[in-house]
Amino acid sequence: MTLAFFCLGALSLLGELDEQVTTENKKDWIDWIYAQQVLPTGQIPDPNEAYCGFRGSSWSGRKFEPTATTCSFQHYDSSHIANTYTALLNLLLLGDDLSRVNRQAIIKTIRKLQQEDGSVAPTYGSLEIDVRFIFCACAVSFILNDWSGIDIERTTDHIKRLQSYEYAIAQCPNQEAHGGSTFCGVAALALMNKLKEGLVDKDKLIEWCLQRQVSGFQGRPNKSPDVCYGFWIGASLDILESFTLVNCQELKAFLLECQHKIGGFGKDPDSFPGKISR
Ligand SMILES: [Zn+2]
Repeated sequence: MTLAFFCLGALSLLGELDEQVTTENKKDWIDWIYAQQVLPTGQIPDPNEAYCGFRGSSWSGRKFEPTATTCSFQHYDSSHIANTYTALLNLLLLGDDLSRVNRQAIIKTIRKLQQEDGSVAPTYGSLEIDVRFIFCACAVSFILNDWSGIDIERTTDHIKRLQSYEYAIAQCPNQEAHGGSTFCGVAALALMNKLKEGLVDKDKLIEWCLQRQVSGFQGRPNKSPDVCYGFWIGASLDILESFTLVNCQELKAFLLECQHKIGGFGKDPDSFPGKISR
């Protein structure tokens, strides 16, 4: 599901989605995505209550059911909040109206994924709890225009606790700040309309982000630049209304150094597939 998002999202950004994916193809994509929806069983109480949303693929061997309305519970056959997030984006990119999305079931599951301290788990019972999944839960709530699955105050407080002595955002409390988690935290706050309340020091955060540009962007101080932080930190700066302070010429030159002649990008100039072109 996530790979589909990178492909469809990139084609869309390039203005090539309609050119490269036929109407028939789009319908097949949409059917495949809906076949990955984990739905309520209809039983009371519902054993699927905390597992609804979208799974990453049909890895569990489920049969192909794009028009399913119920889904009997199978242990370990669960949605994952990152896949629910990318499934909804994929559907919107493909022009679907989300009419087959069971919105209520997804919101109910998000309510179960949010923890006492405001953090969010990716699947029910998972111990892999960090700011990536707060972002996904906020994005899903924003897309579905229903925030009843999230306690906005507690989430804002939690993101506040993720800000380190550098004023940027870490994955979990007391950890080192990082470009990826900074994007997740800043974007989640923006989606909740809580940037003002949730940032400890906006100007210092902007300064931290800008200082990560060495040609391309690095994810943390003293690390090498990596293509992905052009997005994570670039997008954070955009949300913080400071992208105009980025040296775009340097950034573009770095990105092009990482691109292979057939089109793919490595994370840096020495990584596959960029490296094989020289
Ligand atoms: Zn990276």
